Amino acid sequence: MSILRALDQDVWIAEVALREYDVRGALLLGDGRALVWDSLSHPRDMRPYLELIADVDLVVAYSHADWDHIWGTAGLPHERTIVLGHRACLERFSTDVPVTLDQMQAAEPGPWDDVRLVAPTQVFEDETTVELGSMSVTIHHLPGHTPDCCVAFVPERGLLLAGDTAETPFPVVPEGCPLAGWIAGLERWAADERVQTVVPAHGAVGGREILQSNIRYLQGLRDGRPVEITGPLTDFYRATHEANLRAAGVRE
Ligand SMILES: [Zn+2]
Repeated sequence: MSILRALDQDVWIAEVALREYDVRGALLLGDGRALVWDSLSHPRDMRPYLELIADVDLVVAYSHADWDHIWGTAGLPHERTIVLGHRACLERFSTDVPVTLDQMQAAEPGPWDDVRLVAPTQVFEDETTVELGSMSVTIHHLPGHTPDCCVAFVPERGLLLAGDTAETPFPVVPEGCPLAGWIAGLERWAADERVQTVVPAHGAVGGREILQSNIRYLQGLRDGRPVEITGPLTDFYRATHEANLRAAGVRE
């Protein structure tokens, strides 16, 4: 189950430790309406939210369709819920999303049996806004880590929910991804002085310096001059850095 903590007024963060890394989602509680940003990796991860959302209309929004961000939706009252995702996120529910679940259930019988896939019921192209009364949430497409990646901005709280577009120590970069567009998307938010708090799905919460360091990392891959990694890395991020260098065609 996830750990719940308050980040700001009516803004809650849920974090769960997976085997190799942690993943984080958010709950924004408005006036009679709430938005869940990512449902994390298992239906039980949503349990800490249930009391808080008992009497409100619910919207679930996916940052992207990677398993650790979407497998918990069945733990929410999702039958009466709008599930928002990018058009490419919905497409993935017909391609890699069920394949990943099958593979993980086969590799490890038991722990993932309760997972039910809940696809987006509403899609968008560039951006969409959800009004929660006391706050509004605008979700913006920012492809790169995956084609369906999005960020969510809450101007009333100066809050950017970054999903997997930025993370600490650095993002996971697939082969052939649109590095230039990814960098430009992050630069836009890094230059936006309304953004006070950046909440990535993996790694520390902070300010816009998280965006800046991700931009520098991606620019290094783009230019064939990878940034030097200082400080210790977990096995997961050591392997990720190696894979990122290979994906970008950078020799060490
Ligand atoms: Zn992730």
